[in-house]
Amino acid sequence: MTATSVAQAAYLVAALLFVGSLAGLSAQTTARRGTVLGMVGMALAIVATVALALERSARPWPVTAGLILLVLVVGAAVGTWRARRVEMTQMPELIALLHSFVGLSAVLVGYGSYLTAPAGDVVHRVEVFLGVLIGAVTFTGSVVAFGKLSGRLPSAPLTLPARNALNLLVLVLCAALLAWFVAGGAGVAPLVAMTILALALGWHLVAAIGGGDMPVVVSMLNSYSGWAAAAAGFTLGNDLLVVTGALVGASGAILSYLMCRAMNRSFWSVVLGGFGATGSGPGAGAAGAEGEVHETSPDAVAGLLTAARSVVVVPGYGMAVAKAQHPVAELAERLRARGVEVRFAVHPVAGRLPGHMNVLLAEARVPYDVVLGMDEINPDLPTTDVVLVVGANDTVNPAAQDDPASPIAGMPVIEAWKARDVVVFKRSLATGYAGVANPLFFRENTAMLFGDAREQVDKIVQAL
Ligand code: NDP
Repeated sequence: MTATSVAQAAYLVAALLFVGSLAGLSAQTTARRGTVLGMVGMALAIVATVALALERSARPWPVTAGLILLVLVVGAAVGTWRARRVEMTQMPELIALLHSFVGLSAVLVGYGSYLTAPAGDVVHRVEVFLGVLIGAVTFTGSVVAFGKLSGRLPSAPLTLPARNALNLLVLVLCAALLAWFVAGGAGVAPLVAMTILALALGWHLVAAIGGGDMPVVVSMLNSYSGWAAAAAGFTLGNDLLVVTGALVGASGAILSYLMCRAMNRSFWSVVLGGFGATGSGPGAGAAGAEGEVHETSPDAVAGLLTAARSVVVVPGYGMAVAKAQHPVAELAERLRARGVEVRFAVHPVAGRLPGHMNVLLAEARVPYDVVLGMDEINPDLPTTDVVLVVGANDTVNPAAQDDPASPIAGMPVIEAWKARDVVVFKRSLATGYAGVANPLFFRENTAMLFGDAREQVDKIVQAL
């Protein structure tokens, strides 16, 4: 038995483990198993790939092994260091940055493969070209997404005149360059020209997308990075990379589609960008968002809660910033002990990445069965006594339903205002991520509890 046949068998097992991992990750109760399956699959894949590389290496094997070990150690050290230091609120940025590495490696693999065999056949050239194209778009797109999410770049969309025509022109030019590259004779020149165009395209595509659409962009780049990996798999003749890339590409695309549905946007309106250009910035779309603000105190909220029969907590990005999940979970526990029904309502795009709130609530050991989705909770809100909005803003904005001119018009939201009483925990009247003012703060049945969500929830727990 050669290392090749053993590696092929290991690849097959790893591919099955990845499929099992995805299936596990689709539900909270099986997510841990899904993660373990994915880790085992990846370990198997790395061992098999290293074994293959050693067998096929033209150099003496200790040299190849030493080189692989060196990059593994450097990569693992940097990865471990970053992952240990990253805050939960910085997770989307980290993911965007990791996607950029996938894109960059697809570009490097493409170039490496072409330069080692420049006389390759047509199929090989098409593979190289497409791998570099998708990789370059993913690379700069992810870098811009990282910049926007981390606040290093402005989150408002860049709207160049005729930007769609510009993108189309770049694609047409790339198609022409592909024909030139495949015909041969011009060497690496068409590939280099396309790389420059693709880097610019990736940059422009994501720069044109505004703040509120960033969740979809992150998941879309996830999909691109999968296709870039699959293309690299074709170039390298590595079946497992093709399978894994396709899994990531397809699941990222499905997730993007589901998120678009959650925001009531068409996929194309997101991809083509420009959303929020006329309405972003504090105060935009603020029709009706003025009037009197009712301020409340932790003691008053504690009184309100003890008299309630049903309470719904709507967590948002501010809960993650304040790290308020533990006191919030404790508050829920205490209320439940007093016979109050407490449930959590999670909007599909609450926080800064899909599942952000679910992860925080799971970390604070909130039982899964009291964590409900938007569609499950909305019908119950008119009969709910108190809704606690903890650091959420855009996801509870009534303007999405009432104001057709609002930049978030049509986005499905948690209808917190339908409850008898609403308490909003935030530090000021500032807007949320989409930069849209929120009329909920001025409603008759809304009370604002200003201050850091963690401190305020702690005070309520003490008052109880
Ligand atoms: P928002 O960003 O709309 O609002 C969060 C609110 O939290 C802010 O208004 C802020 O108000 C408040 N806040 C911040 N820090 C604290 C603190 N320490 N204590 C109390 N309050 C605090 O969050 P939502 O979760 O409601 O909505 C998510 C938004 O993010 C949507 O627009 C979504 O499209 C977007 N998004 C979602 C992603 C995802 O995948 N889920 C990814 C990227 C973007 P103040 O400053 O006054 O305290």
